[in-house]
This record gives sequence, structure tokens and C-alpha cells, in this order.
Amino acid sequence: MKVHEYQAKEIFAKYGLPVTPGKVVKHLSEVEDALQQFPNGPWVVKAQIHAGGRGKAGGVKLAKSEGELRQKASDILGMTLVSPQTGPQGKLVKKVFITPAVDYKKELYASVVLDRQRRCPVILASAEGGTEIEELAATKPQAIQKVYVHPLEGLHAYQARQLHVSLGLPQDKINQGAALFQKLVRLFMDLDLSLLEVNPLVVLDNGDLHCLDAKVAFEDNGLARHKDYVPLRDPDEEDARELQAAEHGLSYISLDGNIGCLVNGAGLAMATADAIQHFGGSPANFLDVGGSATARAVTQAFKIILSDARVRAILVNIFGGIMKFDVIAQGIIDAAKEVGLALPLVVRLEGTNVEKGRELLSKSDLKYRFASSMDEAAKTAVEAAK
Ligand code: GDP
Ligand code: MN
Repeated sequence: MKVHEYQAKEIFAKYGLPVTPGKVVKHLSEVEDALQQFPNGPWVVKAQIHAGGRGKAGGVKLAKSEGELRQKASDILGMTLVSPQTGPQGKLVKKVFITPAVDYKKELYASVVLDRQRRCPVILASAEGGTEIEELAATKPQAIQKVYVHPLEGLHAYQARQLHVSLGLPQDKINQGAALFQKLVRLFMDLDLSLLEVNPLVVLDNGDLHCLDAKVAFEDNGLARHKDYVPLRDPDEEDARELQAAEHGLSYISLDGNIGCLVNGAGLAMATADAIQHFGGSPANFLDVGGSATARAVTQAFKIILSDARVRAILVNIFGGIMKFDVIAQGIIDAAKEVGLALPLVVRLEGTNVEKGRELLSKSDLKYRFASSMDEAAKTAVEAAK
């Protein structure tokens, strides 16, 4: 679960991390409230969307006067921001964060992520902030420092101090810097985050460190332990189909192709996507109905796939282990009736109760093509989608 910068900054503040407070504005009229709260400019107006690269895309603007502030807020509110992280369709800006601008003399980069190979958190930090980290990683990987964190003990004080020194930060601020890195790690670990990023982390004129930007992503599987934070979810920022699927206990991920996939098991779903690509097609989604789906869940899955206007063909690939194939077949038949299925449907099935399922399908007036192997299913679906 991603959250907005302003929410991340509220969490940072709770952990005693240095951030500038500000006000979230959804309507232009609320700019006046921001002005009452923060009467002294200059200010920064920042688009609140769940994607980075806002600055370069025109979503972060400095305002020197009150008039300029109203103008910049009006420019950014309602604009569609296109950054490398939003995809070509961009993201509509529904909120901006208005915050007093900060003067600084240096930009750094700091983040905490999970190192899956070493099975521990790792701090990535660089004295060369300001640029996109992906770019730096590609062109100058030696400029990125890595500090591995013990998963139980956290970041040791000596590690934090070493990092401060190796980033070339002011010697007299070493306790402050070390405490900041330790807090970042504690926050990451306490809240089961999958990502914490401060880009840029800046050095103010007096040498103090300050978090100018803040990004936080919660690991969804850890959210059950952090119920207080669940309300931070912004449905506007999430894929409507993914939310709907989650409500019905289905794992669904939107992709950009045109073949809708209904599969049981994550491994089989990935193999199906690979097979589709192999035959020159492109999956519209990843959908795992799970091992114990009911006919109702399958109907829901179908509805979700069909609500995607890009879908040109549907591929059902089911291996009936725990999942009984007749249940799937009934779900398909019910869903097709309910939604008036008009798209080409390819079905490949194997496993428990296959005969019963086939019988159900052939007795129904559903139009579908039967495939006896995964390759054949993928090939048929790719052709049907053309
Ligand atoms: P991002 O582009 O989505 O990562 O948004 P950021 O919050 O990082 O802002 C983009 C850029 O705007 C920063 O890298 C800074 O150069 C600039 N910026 C943001 N806030 C301030 C501020 O308070 N003062 C100054 N001088 N620049 C700022
Ligand atoms: Mn940033």
C-alpha cells in the first residue's frame, strides 16, 4: 500500500524525523486556510499522487507571493501528471500539499528497502541526491552506498555514524545524522514497510539534515499488524479492478495487454502469461482465483475481467487440484449468463472433476473453444484476440 507524501511526512514527524509541516488542499478555496496556517512564503506546491518524478513533470512548484501560490495551486490541481512512474496515461492530481519552502545547500539520497537475497533491510544512500536513483544506479553505481541492517538488532549506532561520515556530512552533526538513519530504519522495521525513501535528503544552511521529500510503501501482508494505517489508503490512487478483486479474495493485477486470464494458482498464472507472450500475445491481467474458489468468486473474477474494455479474448486455464473443475465450470456459465459474454472464450482444464465440468459446459449454451494443452490454449487465445 502506497501513501501520499503528506501522509508519509506525518509518520516521519511521529518518529521525530525532520520534515516541514504543510496543508493538504483539495479545492482552491482551501489555499486561504493554508495561507492562514503558513502566512510566510515562499511556499512549495506539491502534487499528491502515488508516483515519483513529480518535480520534472511539473507537479512541484515554488511560489514567492500569495498571488503566485494561488496560481500554482490552480495550475497543479486537476492537471494530469505524466512522469516515468505514472505510465503514459498519467495521473490526475486531486490534492496538493502546500508547505513553506526550505533553503538548502546540498541534496542527498537515502532509502531503506528489503534485500531479499541477504534477507535483511538495507539502507541505500548517496551523496549525489537530486537525480533519479535508477539513473544513478545505471550510470554510477559506485556512488550508492549500501548498509545492511540486522533484522533483529536494527541499525547499530556505529553503522549509522560510519554512513554519516562516508556521505561527507558535517562532522559536528554526526549525532544528528546517525540518529536520523537509525530512525529511518526503525520506522521501516516497525511498520513492515516495503519501501522508505527520502529523495532528496537535504543539508540546510546551518548543516542540519532535513527530509524534503518522503515516500513510504507498506507491505500489504504486514498491514494486518498496522490497522491504524489502513485508512491512509487512497482508493483514487488504486486500480479499481484490483480493489474489487481484493474484496472477493482474488489476487488480481492489471497488465497492459488484451487477453483476460482466469487461472488458479500464482505459478500457473505466470506460466500462462509467459505462454501468451510466447505466441505473440499480451495478457490483460494476472488473476489467481486461488485453490478454493467458489462459483461466486469465479463469477466475480469474470466480471472484473470483462469490466476491462481492452480485453478481446478470455483464457481460462485451470488445473483442478483442490479446486474442483465443475465449480469453475458453473462459475463460468453463471458469469457468462449474468454479464452476457460476447468475447471469444478459450478453456483449458485438467484435474479433479474434469468430466463433470466438461459435461456442464457442453450442456450449457455457452460458446467456447476447448484446448487440450496450455500451448494450444495460449495460441488459440492469441489468435482470437487479433
Ligand atoms: P519528486 O520529484 O516527486 O521526487 O518530488 P520532490 O519532493 O523530491 O521535489 C522535487 C524537487 O523540487 C526537489 O528535488 C527539489 O529540487 C525541489 N523542491 C521541493 N521542495 C523544495 C523546497 O522546499 N525548497 C527548494 N529550494 N526546492 C524544493
Ligand atoms: Mn523526491
